[in-house]
Amino acid sequence: MRITMVGTGYVGLVTGTCFANTGNQVTCLDIDQSKIEKLNNGISPIYEPGLDELIGRNAKASRLHFTTDKSAAYKNAEIIFIAVGTPSGSDGRANLQYVLAAAQDIGDAIEASSDTREKIIVVKSTVPVGTNIKVQQAVASRTSKTFHMASNPEFLKEGAAINDFNKPDRVVIGAHTKYAADKMRDLYEPFVRQGNPIFIMDIPSAEMVKYASNCMLATKISFINEVANLCEQYGADISEVRRGMCSDKRIGNQFLYPGLGYGGSCFPKDVLAMISMGQDCGHPAELLESVHRVNQQQRDVFLTKLESHFEGADWSKLKIAVWGIAFKPGTDDVREAPSITLIQKLLEKGATVTAYDPVAHETAGEVLTDSITYANNAIEAINDADALIVCTDWSEFKNPEFELMKDKMATPVIFDGRNVYRRSTMREYGFVYHSVGRAPIN
Ligand code: NAD
Repeated sequence: MRITMVGTGYVGLVTGTCFANTGNQVTCLDIDQSKIEKLNNGISPIYEPGLDELIGRNAKASRLHFTTDKSAAYKNAEIIFIAVGTPSGSDGRANLQYVLAAAQDIGDAIEASSDTREKIIVVKSTVPVGTNIKVQQAVASRTSKTFHMASNPEFLKEGAAINDFNKPDRVVIGAHTKYAADKMRDLYEPFVRQGNPIFIMDIPSAEMVKYASNCMLATKISFINEVANLCEQYGADISEVRRGMCSDKRIGNQFLYPGLGYGGSCFPKDVLAMISMGQDCGHPAELLESVHRVNQQQRDVFLTKLESHFEGADWSKLKIAVWGIAFKPGTDDVREAPSITLIQKLLEKGATVTAYDPVAHETAGEVLTDSITYANNAIEAINDADALIVCTDWSEFKNPEFELMKDKMATPVIFDGRNVYRRSTMREYGFVYHSVGRAPIN
């Protein structure tokens, strides 16, 4: 099939590349000239394990193309995917300006095209229920030709995106015409050979599946963080509580890790968008309002631990090391990362911050001021540090040389925002250790 992918971000680029890899002709369109230049030079603008190689292979086979030229991109497309960003607006609502701008471009291109085949326009971006109708109207305002709409929310996880896309737990397709449903099923069939389902449903339900899924996952994180905070107050250990609780099959053990709260480009904005959907229809999403509040507070709860530890200290003389900036391991995405909030607060207090992340220095540099230093490796970051904060549980932080760390640090103090270390190990090596939902070691 001839596919056009609008937006070459984390979703569009992975999706487009994986579709090319199953034999489709894919053109990826972006308005960001620098991204397209990089891609045409064989460089992925994002870090995603395995992606460079897959892009290279499919580009070389002339199945995968990158362009900023709208008319060329849309000309022969049978299926057009909209995979542009839907960030939070200032009121928490999903900002649909990029989606609707793309829709207008598509309408213009359909109108100008001599191709007589009916095109399918698929909204892959995460959008509030009702957005497909707005997209349909925006396209129809530019062309009188027939086209089909479909909703196809994406469930891939950054850091494991290729595997997730190639072997999805499920594919969700919202479509109101048999033509669109059949074509979309054909497109996805190679990805569900192991028997996972393709669910075809109405468009509003498909739109809602994505928000409901992300909000459920965010709820789990805020829930376990709330329990962790209570554990600290009552002398319980969240690791033990977690074990006891999660062995109940009805509860399960996924996504129930205490930490610094959820971040990234999806959960925070999707929870806010769902809250706005509730407000807009007069049914406040009270549970999700609490999920959001608990998540916001979680970073402050952690910061308070640092403030108590350094009470009375002159922050301008403190050197703080940060391990991990990405919002989770396996990605260079720092959007809404808890590390960013923490680093900004430390800088406001006057501390000197040295950070190390295996892949996210460049993306961090786009949002943080110049006043932080990036280290070349984890050990360099802690040199002479008064404390280390672990913000992201990258594998390379899991088994460091604790003796060496103690030698390098000015004082052996660790604030572990991901509960990466055993308390017994910390005690053994003589660290002062603060984590989440577990008693400190002083
Ligand atoms: P992103 O910000 O990484 O990429 C969006 C891209 O769209 C950018 O490169 C931008 O330049 C481009 N763009 C904007 N307007 C355009 C236009 N008119 N024409 C062509 N290109 C245009 O975003 P992302 O993280 O890939 O997310 C895209 C959507 O997918 C969002 O709705 C998001 O919620 C959803 N989603 C994201 C993830 C994820 O893990 N990142 C997972 C599932 C769903």
